[in-house]
Amino acid sequence: MSMMLDNVITTPKLIDQFGRTVDYIRLSITDRCDFRCVYCMSEDMMFLPRNEVLSLEECARLVKTFVGLGVSKVRITGGEPLVRKNALWLFEEVGQLEGLNELVLTTNGSQLESQASALKKAGVKRINISIDSLKPERFKKITRTGNLEQVLAGLQASIHAGFEGIKLNTVLMRGSNDDEAADLVQFAIDQKIDISFIEEMPLGEVDHTRESTFVSNTDTLKLLQSKYTLLPSTETTGGPARYWRVAQNNGESATKIGFISPHSHNFCESCNRVRITCKGELYLCLGQEDKVDLMPLLRQNPNDDAPLIAAIIGSMAIKPKGHDFDLRRAEPAVVRFMSHTGG
Ligand code: SAM
Ligand code: SF4
Repeated sequence: MSMMLDNVITTPKLIDQFGRTVDYIRLSITDRCDFRCVYCMSEDMMFLPRNEVLSLEECARLVKTFVGLGVSKVRITGGEPLVRKNALWLFEEVGQLEGLNELVLTTNGSQLESQASALKKAGVKRINISIDSLKPERFKKITRTGNLEQVLAGLQASIHAGFEGIKLNTVLMRGSNDDEAADLVQFAIDQKIDISFIEEMPLGEVDHTRESTFVSNTDTLKLLQSKYTLLPSTETTGGPARYWRVAQNNGESATKIGFISPHSHNFCESCNRVRITCKGELYLCLGQEDKVDLMPLLRQNPNDDAPLIAAIIGSMAIKPKGHDFDLRRAEPAVVRFMSHTGG
């Protein structure tokens, strides 16, 4: 594949109206997925026609433009990014960009057994793998189509490939897998990897009410503190995660536990990120509708990045102060699914 990428960039930084610097983008490269996790998708999910999704060349051009504007961290996500044909090409292109410090990936792990080592070579530093249960039957029930064995093989391949950081992402749901928090933490300790618990968010309409399954991270933390000594960590990613380290008899263990609590607002003031959907919509906040459509700018100006750059810089004026998720509302807080926006 070839691409036109040269552009002259004059503005070094993206700074919003509240003085926050945006240096992190999360790009969804597909809305499709081989799983149908019950909290993420409805059973009869409709996917976008292919011409409404950014091409991989358009994705690469977008990332390069953002990096030119001071973005130093890029997370590739989806849908399931690794089921997109030729996704590796994009990782290879982006992995070479000067000015990019961290290329990271969020995946369900189903394709990692065959792709982990090539992704490492392409420059991916860290991988987040979503695992909500270590019980094969339950894993199948939650993902509807997933195979735990395949995902665990993907995890092992990633460990062997030598990534700088591997983290499990877990969404706990009441009455489903909320009894597995400690087992999942113990698994992470045994594997010498990290784990984050993500609170379920009201994104898109699924087949249950969010309030009926919601498990708060405050409760999960309390439960884990009754089993482990957890030492608060000062580490921050500028996002909704708070971290703890598991202490063990012989000192601190390598395992970090993150709690991603989007229902609390206390992280919005340090928000450093924006999200780009697979349709090229630049969302300034996961929990709000403020957006700019970048796809027409890409397609109408194939040889000129100036309009794209102007739109991205201009978008900083509409980045909202924060979000507001209310689980008691009958309708989803945000109509779009996480698989569309990219988690
Ligand atoms: N398919 C990949 C995966 O599952 O890791 C990447 C995309 S997925 C949308 C990214 C993350 O979002 C996953 O860790 C998933 O558990 C989480 N997620 C999806 N829908 C969610 C929701 N409604 N609330 C909270 N987390 C959600
Ligand atoms: Fe697919 Fe990830 Fe959504 Fe599960 S959470 S359905 S793996 S996109």
